Amino acid sequence: KANKMFKPEDTIVEVAGRKIGGGHIGIIAGPCSVEGIEQIVGIARDVKAAGAGFLRGGAFKPRTSPYSFQGLREEGLKLLEEAKKETGLPIVTEIMSASHLEIFEEHVDVMQIGARNMQNFELLKEVGRSKKPVLLKRGMSSSIEELIMSAEYIMAGGNENVILCERGIRTFENFTRNTLDLSAIPAIKKLSHLPVVVDPSHAAGLSWMVEPLSKAAIAVGADGLMIEVHNDPANAKCDGQQSLTPDQFKDLMKSIKQIAQIE
Ligand code: PEP
Ligand code: MN
Repeated sequence: KANKMFKPEDTIVEVAGRKIGGGHIGIIAGPCSVEGIEQIVGIARDVKAAGAGFLRGGAFKPRTSPYSFQGLREEGLKLLEEAKKETGLPIVTEIMSASHLEIFEEHVDVMQIGARNMQNFELLKEVGRSKKPVLLKRGMSSSIEELIMSAEYIMAGGNENVILCERGIRTFENFTRNTLDLSAIPAIKKLSHLPVVVDPSHAAGLSWMVEPLSKAAIAVGADGLMIEVHNDPANAKCDGQQSLTPDQFKDLMKSIKQIAQIE
């Protein structure tokens, strides 16, 4: 179902009147984690004013250490909903367990499957039974073929609203957090009709590299960007070093608007 052979035209995923795919470019921006009401509503207002179409923010966080901040969980989803009420921006947030499907269906606009769960096949099957759009991130050590097969798991269950996301892969290079695989975008476009967005924040791990990688992503045909933005990166509960300030995000949007038309 994900294969271009069976559906040559690009899939356009629609979320709250916004489109991603088929020439429509969507910008998803927000903090790594929801930390509080003022933080998330403030960032939501700022990214909306700069031209973002979607708000991201983790409520359930997949952290390497069990002692790191795990997210505000259900409370985080409520705060995201408040930010949506204030700004109208639809919510993109990660689902880590099938047991949360019901609350995600109620409170969330796009369910994100994180890199660490790309091959959690039971979770993929569960979101495949839902009608909610899914943003499927590439596993950090997964091939393009494996990413597309994971999308197939979701689509096989009847949910064809799948957006793929290239977020960098592990290589021997450790200057950056991951290596952004720009060739994945044209490769996926050759194989599949599904939209592909690029997350330069998790790829680079360095805030100053987000802008050049964003431009490159658009140049190779990405259907959108996912950008981490924080009001106080130095004190962020996670991924501060790769987060843009709202002002930096505004500048990024200015330069992206020079090369692409944003939804
Ligand atoms: C995220 O987007 O917050 C995230 C955890 O990303 P990834 O799954 O790509 O590491
Ligand atoms: Mn993050």
